[in-house]
This record gives sequence, structure tokens and C-alpha cells, in this order.
Amino acid sequence: MTDARSVAPTFLGRSSSGRWQLLGRRCGDCGETLFGRDDVLCLRCGSDALADIGLGDRGTLWAFTVLRNPPPGDRRAAAISRVPQPLGLVELDGMAVRVMARIDVDVDRLEIGLPLRLAGSELYVDGGAPVVGYSFEEA
Ligand SMILES: [Zn+2]
Repeated sequence: MTDARSVAPTFLGRSSSGRWQLLGRRCGDCGETLFGRDDVLCLRCGSDALADIGLGDRGTLWAFTVLRNPPPGDRRAAAISRVPQPLGLVELDGMAVRVMARIDVDVDRLEIGLPLRLAGSELYVDGGAPVVGYSFEEA
């Protein structure tokens, strides 16, 4: 089995300890934090003084909805087609950044303010290598 790889390497990578973490950039001029590493200019001030940072693996449920019908089409990832599936906006601890993510918590346990922890979860296997996406689970 080949090493697992991220489904979106500019958004999800491994920390120095090997754990999955969300990735971002911080502006050296205005302090804005960006989710992902695709932007080359700060979305707030236009500066190119962006430094790569890790966004950690903890957050708080800020808003949510529950999918009760699977998305249409043939999905490689069974995890994406499972219903009911909560989706949430998660505010990352200490980062002033909110990200949309699958929330792997029982529907009965969902509440605004629920502490969450990032989980790397296998979406499918490609060329013998697990392809990993992210979701959040109860901390
Ligand atoms: Zn800036």
C-alpha cells in the first residue's frame, strides 16, 4: 500500500508530527489568515507577503445543515454519499477562519458551539494509494 495522499494538497497536508492539518497562509502586512495556499496575494490588502502556516486541527461548530438526500451521480467516495450527512461551517480555534466541512457527528448531537477536531478520512483508493479528505468529528 502506497502512502495516503491528500485530495487537495494546498488545503490539507501533514504537520511535522505527521498528523493531518488544514493549511493556510498569513499576510505579513495586515495579518489576514487565508484558508489554503492557492492565493498569491492577500485577499484583504493585496500584499504578496504571504507565509505558509498550519491552521491546526481544532475548531468550533459555527453553523450547520443536514443533507438528507445523497448528491446525484456516481460517487467514488461512499463517505460522501452517506445520509443524513451534516455539513458545517467550522471556526478554527485561534485562526479567525471558518471552513465548510463534512461533520461526522450524530445528527442528535449537533449544536452550535460544539468543539470539533479535524479528521483525515479515506475517500477512495487511486492507484493503490488511499486518497484522504477532511471532515470534523466531536472533540
Ligand atoms: Zn494583507
